[in-house]
Amino acid sequence: MASQAQVIDGKALAEKIRRETGDLLARARAEGRVVRVAVVSATDDAAARMYVARQCADFAAAGIEALVRELPGAATEAEVVAAVEGLNRDGEVTGIVLALPLPDGIDVRRVQERIRPAKDIEGVHPRNLGLTALGRLRAGPSTAQAVIEAIDATGIDVRGKEAVIVGRSQIVGKPVALMLIERRATVTVCHTATRDLAGHARRAEILVAAAGRPEIITGDMVREGAVVIDVGINRVTLPDGTRRTVGDVRFEAARARASWITPVPGGVGPVTVAVLLRSAVSAALEAER
Ligand code: NDP
Repeated sequence: MASQAQVIDGKALAEKIRRETGDLLARARAEGRVVRVAVVSATDDAAARMYVARQCADFAAAGIEALVRELPGAATEAEVVAAVEGLNRDGEVTGIVLALPLPDGIDVRRVQERIRPAKDIEGVHPRNLGLTALGRLRAGPSTAQAVIEAIDATGIDVRGKEAVIVGRSQIVGKPVALMLIERRATVTVCHTATRDLAGHARRAEILVAAAGRPEIITGDMVREGAVVIDVGINRVTLPDGTRRTVGDVRFEAARARASWITPVPGGVGPVTVAVLLRSAVSAALEAER
């Protein structure tokens, strides 16, 4: 019988990245640099506002100043863009986060394109996505970087491995694919038009699930000894009415076959938060002055 996969401890990995961030912050302070993040939020939804407040608390806990540029849920695209551009010009702000979702009718990509690339700590500006394509790992989206951190934590050599990514979004699937290509994995990207998801998944020595579909990766889709990285965060209601967060991977079944696996929650999620903090300090260190 196969032994159980080792679980990649996202919290421990996040802790390691936070320590790195602490060192970077000490350097920034020694150089007399401002490290200040502004979160642009346009919502009246209490839960979304709470999420932003929690994000600010995360920054503050890491010693990074954070402020919210709060707009109402009825804000127009021009108003959100004006807020972003004001922060672009503000020499005391070194990082900008655009909280999602934005109000209906606002084109998120158009707003993201207005963030000054040097302040785009989430790695969503086309220039930073372009740099990712050119091999600059740390320019890319936080979640994609977190996936690579999780893979690296296993100590496996990515080069030459069969990597299969489920999902082709701008912030996860595509940049993860680019990052793995850079490391010379042989990469397949699956999406809703993929004809034989299970067939592709079964070939994967590295399987990254980022579809946002609860437990679509079943145990039989996992190759023996694979590294399984589960990015999905899905809220589901169980038959008894209780709500739970599950990933895109059926954890126990996959664990019986994989060599390494990330849990949900406690896997890629906390690593993503830590990567964002690190990016905030890096942006401040690299800021022109
Ligand atoms: P998107 O909805 O933007 O993209 C989902 C992708 O998965 C699409 O490319 C879609 O294909 C593909 N897909 C959906 N269903 C299937 C299916 N049945 N078979 C194959 N492919 C499928 O999601 P995101 O990339 O933004 O997020 C993905 C998941 O990761 C979500 O659960 C999200 O909550 C989570 N997430 C977690 C983060 C973390 O920190 N851990 C951060 C960000 C996201 P197509 O393009 O054809 O539509």
